Amino acid sequence: MRLILSVILSLIVLALITSNDCFAQQNSLQKIDNGIKLSEHFAQRELACSCCGETRVNFMLIIKLEELRERLNAPIIITSGYRCPLHNKAVGGVKNSQHLYGNAVDIKVEGYSPTEVSEIAKEMGFTFTKVYSTWVHVDIR
Ligand SMILES: [Zn+2]
Ligand SMILES: [Zn+2]
Repeated sequence: MRLILSVILSLIVLALITSNDCFAQQNSLQKIDNGIKLSEHFAQRELACSCCGETRVNFMLIIKLEELRERLNAPIIITSGYRCPLHNKAVGGVKNSQHLYGNAVDIKVEGYSPTEVSEIAKEMGFTFTKVYSTWVHVDIR
C-alpha cells in the first residue's frame, strides 16, 4: 500500500514538473515570478497543495487574511492551504477538512502566539479556529 502510494505520488510530481516546464517555456516571466498573486500579500503558491500544486481557494478567505494581516501589522506565514484529498489523508487531516474546499489555512505570525492570532481572527469574522503548538488553523465555513 505504501509503495503504491509513493509510486502514485511520484507520478503526480513527475506530471507536475513536466507541465511546469511546458508552462515555463511559454511564459518565462511566470517562472521568475514563481506564482500568481491572489492579493497584495498572498501568492497562489502559498495556498497551493504541497503535494500536487493544485490550488482551490475561497476568495473570501483571501479577503479575510488581508484584513487579518493589516490588523496584526505583520506578515502571515501560511503553513498549509488547499489540500487535495490525497494530501489531506497523508497528513492525517479530518475527513471533511475545510482545507479540501479552500476555506482554511494554517498560519503562523511572528510576534504573536497561536492563541493571540486565534482570538483576533475570531474577532475579525473567521468562523472557526483551532490552536496548535506552533500554528493556528483558521477557516471560514
Ligand atoms: Zn495535492
Ligand atoms: Zn488546518
